[in-house]
Amino acid sequence: MPRWIQGTVVDNIHWTESLFSLKIDADVDSFTAGQFASLALDIDGERVARPYSYLSSPDQNPLEFFFYTATDGVLSNALVKLNAGDTIWITQKSNGYFILDEVPAFDDLWMLGTGTGVAPFFSILNTDEPWQRFNRIVLVHAVRSLADLRYQEMVSALQQKYPERLLFQAFITREEIPGTIKGRVPAAIKDGSLEQAVNLELGVDKSHIMLCGNPDMVKDAVEVLKARGFSKNRRRTPGNITAENYW
Ligand SMILES: Cc1cc2nc3c(=O)[nH]c(=O)nc-3n(C[C@H](O)[C@H](O)[C@H](O)COP(=O)(O)OP(=O)(O)OC[C@H]3O[C@@H](n4cnc5c(N)ncnc54)[C@H](O)[C@@H]3O)c2cc1C
Repeated sequence: MPRWIQGTVVDNIHWTESLFSLKIDADVDSFTAGQFASLALDIDGERVARPYSYLSSPDQNPLEFFFYTATDGVLSNALVKLNAGDTIWITQKSNGYFILDEVPAFDDLWMLGTGTGVAPFFSILNTDEPWQRFNRIVLVHAVRSLADLRYQEMVSALQQKYPERLLFQAFITREEIPGTIKGRVPAAIKDGSLEQAVNLELGVDKSHIMLCGNPDMVKDAVEVLKARGFSKNRRRTPGNITAENYW
């Protein structure tokens, strides 16, 4: 049984009709950037819990999470209604292996996320470790519309802090916006347009790729990467690809 502690909502930021972020004050145990906690609410007498990646980095307070309100989703549609001062359950301990401790040494790190799947990347990017370990870091945020492209100010702040080292590329599937790629991430890996856009090549000997979010994107990207010789990263057989599926 997880050990639940009570947190207090500090802020609920409604970005769009289906995207929001919660800032939560809670005395959780220290976690590693990239990990997730479980959040829960008591709904009709039952504790409804789901895992959520930390968007905030371990030294940040309040804690921050980034949500999509899933169609008919039980918990996300209850979380979106929370206001400052409301209470929420959160697990004291965090979990997960989508962390840099699991990533072997490579020159460059590619972080490819769909929707709210960028959350663990921001948690990791706001720590020192990736900047000590990798030359260049590519962050990809794939969304449907420009309005869904959130946390751009965090990207700009990181780019200012680490000039030339953070390469950002947005994918927008439903709109044509200059500077963004209209299409899917796996297709852009396959035809080379992602590498062309960020002006950096993927290489089996130099790149590690972290994938997070929509399981279709993850599966198709892994397939395309495997066809180019990249291998999945496993504890016994270190490789190029580390993935986290949100459902
Ligand atoms: C390790 C891990 C970390 C996660 N971190 C996050 C996070 O940081 N932010 C977040 O919004 N979700 C995250 N999720 C998904 C989250 O746990 C829930 O599945 C989601 O909030 C839906 O719960 P629900 O009760 O509202 O919907 P449910 O009734 O449980 O419906 C689930 C359905 O919603 C859809 N769905 C679930 N998550 C998403 C999503 N993020 N974007 C689009 N569609 C989705 C899928 O079709 C899924 O089958 C994570 C999942 C895992 C396994």
